[in-house]
Amino acid sequence: MDGGGKGTAMLYDPVCGRKIDAGAAVVSVEYKKRRYYFCGEGCKASFQHEAERIRLHELARVGALLSSGKVRWGMA
Ligand SMILES: [Zn+2]
Repeated sequence: MDGGGKGTAMLYDPVCGRKIDAGAAVVSVEYKKRRYYFCGEGCKASFQHEAERIRLHELARVGALLSSGKVRWGMA
């Protein structure tokens, strides 16, 4: 966390959690009408192996941000 606040939407890699610079060349994949960005082909491959689990995890994370932690975590 560098506390940047540059005004651009922050992208992050849902596999390893690394922040992605939207201005750099990024690897991305679209899954169920959402686009996900990755730091490299390795994370993209990992995502494709467990895309549904990661998608649910990410939705829960977004929900947690919006509702101040009312999300129930069904899985570790
Ligand atoms: Zn990654």
